[in-house]
Amino acid sequence: MGELSVLRKEIDKARTSLSIQVDAGADTGLGPRSPSGPGSLWPTFEPPSPISEEHFWLDSPFPGGFNQLYSPGYQFGSTGGGRYRIHHGVDIGNPVGTPVLATASGEVVHAGPDNPTLLGPYNDFYGNSVVIRLDRKLNTSRGEQDVFVLYGHLVSVDVQEGQWVGAGDYLGGVGMTGIAIGPHLHMEVRIGQNSYLHTVNPALWMRPAAYTGTVAVRLLSAAGRTWPGVQLSLYRYEEAGVRWYRVVETYPEKESIGPDPSWGENGALSHIPVGTYLLSGFVNGEEVRQEISVRDGETTFVELRTQQ
Ligand SMILES: [Zn+2]
Repeated sequence: MGELSVLRKEIDKARTSLSIQVDAGADTGLGPRSPSGPGSLWPTFEPPSPISEEHFWLDSPFPGGFNQLYSPGYQFGSTGGGRYRIHHGVDIGNPVGTPVLATASGEVVHAGPDNPTLLGPYNDFYGNSVVIRLDRKLNTSRGEQDVFVLYGHLVSVDVQEGQWVGAGDYLGGVGMTGIAIGPHLHMEVRIGQNSYLHTVNPALWMRPAAYTGTVAVRLLSAAGRTWPGVQLSLYRYEEAGVRWYRVVETYPEKESIGPDPSWGENGALSHIPVGTYLLSGFVNGEEVRQEISVRDGETTFVELRTQQ
């Protein structure tokens, strides 16, 4: 009992420090709000789907020694606390000119500015970009589908359309062409079509870094509907106590942002250090919590259901 109350205190403390961080950007009134009701019916299969298997097909786009981590404040499907457009990919910050490598083998189907070719919500959004159609196809309930990986905001592009590239081949350098604040790589995974409205969460496709794993979350109502735009916190159990680690925000029901065919998730995080965690948060005033363990090189799937 004593231990439990200490744990609760630690969690409350971590929550307080978290809310300060979140509130700093929430004055605009555009930050995520707890939804007043759940959204659409969501997949309920036990993942990974027997049709579309687990798919850590992608290596890191950066050589060792460079930053590999996605910006946690602008996750797939989020708006960065209301500051930006809904994110259809992930961002990895590195200095201008850092080599960007092909994450898997395939054919270059786009190389150069995204004008006149439309890759984003409007032209000149991703700037100098490369899109690769992977050699591997994904089996889904709708048959075999193409998988595309997009690399945006490059300073230079060193491949050409029609060219085949292998995993690890040099594509170009990190830049900030198009709409970008600071140099970073924007990466997207697109299924079925090379289109802005066919993206899934790259966190579920990138092989986790050493001694880390991926977490896929499915937060549903009692009736199996998604809860969009909810922030859940991941707390790490450590010898010294429980430490707030990161927030996962569930996907909005906008701009075709949706679940991966293999996982049916509505939120995901990558590069989580191996260990035991508590995932918890409030949905419409109701507390949800689940202990999970993150294993090396694997995806931990967790489904949470509210009573509502
Ligand atoms: Zn981005």
